[in-house]
Amino acid sequence: MSIYVTRSSMPELEDYINEIKPIFESHHLTNMGPVYKKFQKQLIEYLGVKELSLFVNGHMALEMAIHAMGLRCSDGEVITTPFTFVSTTHAIVRNGLKPVFCDIDPATYTIDVTKIESLITDKTVAIVPVHVYGNLCDVEAIDEIAKKHDLKVIYDAAHAFGVKYKGVGIGNFGDASMFSFHATKVFNTIEGGAIAFHDKKYCEKLHELKNFGIHEQDDVLGIGGNAKLDEFRAAMGICNLRRIGECIASRKAVYEHYRSRLSGVEGVKLSSPQKDVEPNYAYFPVYFDKQKFGKSRDNVFEQLKAEDIFARKYFYPAINELSCYKGQFPLDTPNAHKASMGILTLPMYEGLKLEDVDRICDIILK
Ligand SMILES: *Cc1c(COP(=O)(O)O)cnc(C)c1O
Repeated sequence: MSIYVTRSSMPELEDYINEIKPIFESHHLTNMGPVYKKFQKQLIEYLGVKELSLFVNGHMALEMAIHAMGLRCSDGEVITTPFTFVSTTHAIVRNGLKPVFCDIDPATYTIDVTKIESLITDKTVAIVPVHVYGNLCDVEAIDEIAKKHDLKVIYDAAHAFGVKYKGVGIGNFGDASMFSFHATKVFNTIEGGAIAFHDKKYCEKLHELKNFGIHEQDDVLGIGGNAKLDEFRAAMGICNLRRIGECIASRKAVYEHYRSRLSGVEGVKLSSPQKDVEPNYAYFPVYFDKQKFGKSRDNVFEQLKAEDIFARKYFYPAINELSCYKGQFPLDTPNAHKASMGILTLPMYEGLKLEDVDRICDIILK
C-alpha cells in the first residue's frame, strides 16, 4: 500500500454522527451557530488564548487578520520569510502590501531575527513570521523588535497547533496568530482555520470581515468577504479535539522512531528539539547534504517514490523563486534557498506504523 506524506486524523463515524445530529434537528447549518460557539469555547480553552475567531480556512483567516489590523493597501511593507507555504505571501500581497523577504535561521528554518532590523524602512508596517514545521520562531526577539519599531506581528502558526512555549500557548504571542485546520494538519476540521488574538477590538472586526462586513443586522460597515466556518466543520473540530492527545502521542512515537534510526547519520540533518517548547510533532523534515550523505534530496525522493512512498519537498521552491513571484523580489536569501533544495519531509501522521517508519529509513540508508 502507498504511503503518503500525511494522512488526515479522523474521529469514529459514530462520534461525528452524534455531533451533527442537533444540526439536522435545528436546520441551523452555518452563520456562527451553536456548534460554532461550542467549538470556539473548547478551542480557546485548549489553546489557552484570550480570543479566537474561526474561519473557513487558515488562508482566509490570515488574509483577514492582516486586513483587520488596518494595514490593507497602506502602501506598506511586510517583513516575512520566503521559506513557507505560498499562502503566507499571498495573504500579504492580496492585501495590497509588499512582502520583504528575510532569510531564515538554518537551525530552525524560521525567520532569522538578527536580519530583521536591517530590512525595516519607514514603509514597514508589520512582521509576518512562520512557525515552520511547528518549530517556534524566536518570539521574544520578534516582540522586542516590533515594540521598538511600532510594528504589528501576525504569526503564521498553521503548523503550530497546540505548541507551547514556556508553558504558554503559542497563540498568545504577537498581535495575532493564524492556525490552520486543513485536513493535512495536526488538527483538522476538514477545511478550517482560526485567528487567535488578545485585543478585544479585533473581535467585531474579524466577525464583520468574514461575514460581508455586516454589522449587527441593518448596516454594512466594511467591505468584507465570506469566510465563515460552518456547523458541520465545527462538529468535526469538536470530535477531533477530543482525540488530540492520542493524535499527538502517536506522532511522537513516529518522531522518536525516526530519530532513533536517522540521528548521527553523516550528511543527514534532523531538527533538534527546542528549549522550553512543548512540541506537536507536525512534520519530520530532513536535510540531506549531498556531499556528505552521497545522495541528493531529489535522489532520496525518487528512491522512496519507486517504493510507493511519497515524501514531500516542502517547501520547494522558496517563495521568491516561484513563477508567480519570480523577478519581483531579491533572491538574497541563501539559507532559504539551501533549505528548499535540501529538505525532504518524511511521512508523518497519526497511526503511521513503526514498521513503515523502519521501511522508509531502510530505503534512505540503503
Ligand atoms: C496550511 C498552511 C496555510 C494555509 O492554511 P489553509 O487552512 O490550508 O488555508 C498557511 N500557511 C502555512 C505555513 C500552511 O502550512
